[in-house]
Amino acid sequence: MIQKTEAILLKKQDLRETSLFLSFYTKGHGKISGVIKGIRGQKGQYNASPQLFGLNEIVFYERKDRDVFTISQCELREFFAEIREDLEKTSHALYFIELVNSLTLILEKNEKMFELLENSLRLLCGPASTKRVARIFEIKLLGILGLMPRLKSCAICDSSVIKKMRFSLKNGGVICGECSAKERDSSFPVSIGTVNFIDHISRSDWEMVLRIKVSQDVGRQVEQLLQRFITYHLPVRPKSLEFIKKVLV
Ligand SMILES: [Zn+2]
Repeated sequence: MIQKTEAILLKKQDLRETSLFLSFYTKGHGKISGVIKGIRGQKGQYNASPQLFGLNEIVFYERKDRDVFTISQCELREFFAEIREDLEKTSHALYFIELVNSLTLILEKNEKMFELLENSLRLLCGPASTKRVARIFEIKLLGILGLMPRLKSCAICDSSVIKKMRFSLKNGGVICGECSAKERDSSFPVSIGTVNFIDHISRSDWEMVLRIKVSQDVGRQVEQLLQRFITYHLPVRPKSLEFIKKVLV
């Protein structure tokens, strides 16, 4: 059956002759991979080769008994050009794409995941700082994956946590002073500002996420907490995150 959907490129690989092997995250079907023919080396005759950091409309159809589709058309609808002009934006966009690619399965439709990737790439082109966009991406991603840390009560005893709050990676959220006595080694202090920021972003819609103000200290703590949480709980070690840490920090 022929399908048409909005799509963001995740991966591109040259094949023999003029074919390309492409993976997209699509709005209508989740992740798909497929072969497109007649693209390379024939500029002008067909669409230009699909680029990273663009919103495309693709047409594809299934091949019998195979996970690899035939992609017959790929038309660029919107290109996020500003991402290419800045190394920090480029590496963060690659980080978003790498996480979506490694955490999703073929044909598992999730419009929220598509919206997350599309909105995050678009925000990188606007006035918000790249770090802010990255934190929004990470928080929203955890929500979509059902891995949002517990923030409003102790992840061990359920009491409302106010004083001497710590964060436990193992228990997936904040823990109270009493419980943290037993979890000293696997937890670290966390401020109420950090907890409130993460909670706020997770509950805000896309129109509101940039309005939340945050101090530099809280921003730094949020970044550290989320990256520790992501590397602890997700089954992937993003290569692009290593690059960001080594080259940009
Ligand atoms: Zn407790």
